Amino acid sequence: MTTVTLSRRSVLAASGAGALLGGRVVAEDDAEQPRDHGPYAALLIEPGWAWLGSGDGQGLLREPRILIQGDRIAAINPGEVPEGAPRLRFPRSILMPGFISGHTHVCGGTPTRGIIEGGRSYNRALSMVETLSDEDLDALTAFNLAELMLSGCTTQVEMSLTLRQAESYVRVAKRWGARGYPGPMIPGRMRLYPIWFRSDDQVLFDSEEETLAEVQAALEFGRRHAGAGEGRIQPMMSPHACDTQTAATMAAIGKAAAELGTGVHIHLSQGSQETEAVKRVWGKTPTQWCEEHGLFDGPFFGAHMSGLDWPTDAPILKKHGAVFAHCPSAGGAGGGSMPYPEGLGHGLAVNVGIDTHSNDFLENLKLAVLYGQARYFLMRGKTDLPIKQPSIEDAVHGATVVPADALGRPDLGRIAAGSKADLTAIDVGDFLVGGGALPPEPLNNLLYANGKSVHFTMTDGRVQVQEGRLVADDHAEVSRRGGEVLSKIWQQLETEGWFETSG
Ligand SMILES: [Zn+2]
Repeated sequence: MTTVTLSRRSVLAASGAGALLGGRVVAEDDAEQPRDHGPYAALLIEPGWAWLGSGDGQGLLREPRILIQGDRIAAINPGEVPEGAPRLRFPRSILMPGFISGHTHVCGGTPTRGIIEGGRSYNRALSMVETLSDEDLDALTAFNLAELMLSGCTTQVEMSLTLRQAESYVRVAKRWGARGYPGPMIPGRMRLYPIWFRSDDQVLFDSEEETLAEVQAALEFGRRHAGAGEGRIQPMMSPHACDTQTAATMAAIGKAAAELGTGVHIHLSQGSQETEAVKRVWGKTPTQWCEEHGLFDGPFFGAHMSGLDWPTDAPILKKHGAVFAHCPSAGGAGGGSMPYPEGLGHGLAVNVGIDTHSNDFLENLKLAVLYGQARYFLMRGKTDLPIKQPSIEDAVHGATVVPADALGRPDLGRIAAGSKADLTAIDVGDFLVGGGALPPEPLNNLLYANGKSVHFTMTDGRVQVQEGRLVADDHAEVSRRGGEVLSKIWQQLETEGWFETSG
């Protein structure tokens, strides 16, 4: 066995020919294979630490040897390693299960970042995404998906803002071997605003027919792509939120979700306005209404929950194992805090996810804890609601085991024999993060890290990020093309005088 160890971060020391796993069964729709590294017949990873998952016999393990075979973790500390297996040494890193974002709008990340933090609406920038050609749309999707992979996120529960963006996500995710639960938002971005911000509920009732058509299109999208990318793509029904639906569209969504069997992904009680609107028109909270239409019958991911009626809704969500996808950067960096301490305090299944604007998974993991602690200490003694002070362990658990279990995927979100080889490695001894050595309590060092500390990401046994660079594709070209498309959007905004306005 040949090993090469670099002083800072380690590299793959491929030894012996034929390490690539041959003879994989490839579905017809996968003519375009991921241009990445692996899967391998056998690959040994030797990190400084591994976080195996939460629960009995799990937690942190120091200097383990982890054997990957094909798309799975074959063994932890195996007695024997197949002859000629490549070996990866990460002596100053922690190996983690690949992070799972319970809420993303992948393509929408960069068009709004850096221009909305002062309070402008993201409306115009996102509208312009829809004017792009498929080729440009894919370049934008690729840039944003690359950022997620570069920060350790291997699975996205993806609510694409339009059907075109959902198709774009599937194209890029298949090409790179990402794992995703995508669906077009209903109503899509182009129809959403007049319905969402109506002053007369008649606008909502008048939208029903077109929304039903979008439900049908989303169902067809789901049928078309179910199991694509060798099973990594599992479309989900992704309604925008309850205040933009009618009883008929909710029923249609419930029916479509039952057919696809992958569950529902929605913004749930994003603010008190949404909860009030649903109560006004339908006489119940969004959570109660979802239950009435069977939306909790499968996996359920609800983002934000800032306007939840906690005493009414929390027991329903808990009963169904619904996931609260907490996205600390929703709305961009800064802004109000969100009810992470309340979610944990009520014993909900709480995921830490991305939403949009920021695609840095580690940064969001950290923000969840820091914002959450600030909120906890401000609320303590002033609320009757149960609240819990969030810890880094809560955040890590919420980014791995919680969403994996909710998706019905106990083979994701943990490092265990038989689990999928979805992994990420974070240099916790680097400058600014650690102290130049392998730290004794590495989860705490994640609170000093960000996505730049991630140097290795693998999904289904394929290496996608190595040495902090995208190897699933041409790193520099993905960056260049993404920037080119974004420049067009900024240029148009400038021409329209958008930067001189409040948006
Ligand atoms: Zn969202």
